[in-house]
Amino acid sequence: KKEQAPVLSKKEQKRARRLFPEPLINFKELRSKYKISSRLAENVAEQGFTVPTEVQLGTLPLLLGESSEPDLLIVAPTGSGKTLSFLIPVINKIVRHHHSNPDEHGIFSIVVAPTKELASQIVNEGRKLVAGTGVKITLMKKGMRISDSGDADVLDEKSDESSGSEDENADSKPTKERANIPLTKSDILVTTPLMLVNALSANRTTTMATLPLVRSLVMDEADVLLDPLFREQTLDIWKACSHPDLRVGLWSATMGSNIEDLTKSTIKERQEELGQKPSE
Ligand code: ADP
Ligand code: MG
Repeated sequence: KKEQAPVLSKKEQKRARRLFPEPLINFKELRSKYKISSRLAENVAEQGFTVPTEVQLGTLPLLLGESSEPDLLIVAPTGSGKTLSFLIPVINKIVRHHHSNPDEHGIFSIVVAPTKELASQIVNEGRKLVAGTGVKITLMKKGMRISDSGDADVLDEKSDESSGSEDENADSKPTKERANIPLTKSDILVTTPLMLVNALSANRTTTMATLPLVRSLVMDEADVLLDPLFREQTLDIWKACSHPDLRVGLWSATMGSNIEDLTKSTIKERQEELGQKPSE
């Protein structure tokens, strides 16, 4: 009698499919299979890329899949298209959120990058993707304020709006002149660690303001953000994101020596502070 080879149980198979979904074979699947916003899909198509890069074909199905979105630590080489990999899911999640919660406004996503130049490049790429979706992406600048209520306010500057023109001189305007600019809301804030920490600590002596609405925290160049130079600020931002459904993505070109340990211990610490059960 032939013995049957043991196979994974149904439950184990389901878990495996969730952890290792099929790769994205082309950008059309973003719409046909993963049902992202049609306008976002059009904006991606307009970039004219023919095939997804390795990091894109691996991570987009994970981040856009039906099962609950994981926290991710991704290592992929420079120039491999990580920006698109994290921006598409973040933007799509916000489009969906706007659709089901039209009255809730505020910062739903923070993207942290180690330098202003990198942050600005992310915003430029983001602007092309958010066109017509109703999602706003803003580059954090000096003088911007974060309100306590969580519907964080930032200064309304044409140059920072998704639809705005590229006014590179905005930063040089004196603060006084900007005091009367009306406040507006942004969905995605792209920032260096220091700039956000400063905004969150403004007018406070001991504690920082929180970012209670943020569901997606992206750390670009995560190895740099977690090295000793930036670590404290980066972890402060992470802990300021108090929403229980926060998902974190760490994107890096190199695997720093203790990035994995640091990530695990921070997730654990934060969950303990929030009184949550540890996730996978
Ligand atoms: P990384 O952050 O991994 O270093 P970027 O996101 O900055 O890489 O992307 C590097 C370049 O590759 C950018 O100019 C981007 O527009 C381009 N790019 C992104 N995705 C693709 C793709 N699927 N095919 C071709 N070029 C791409
Ligand atoms: Mg990059």
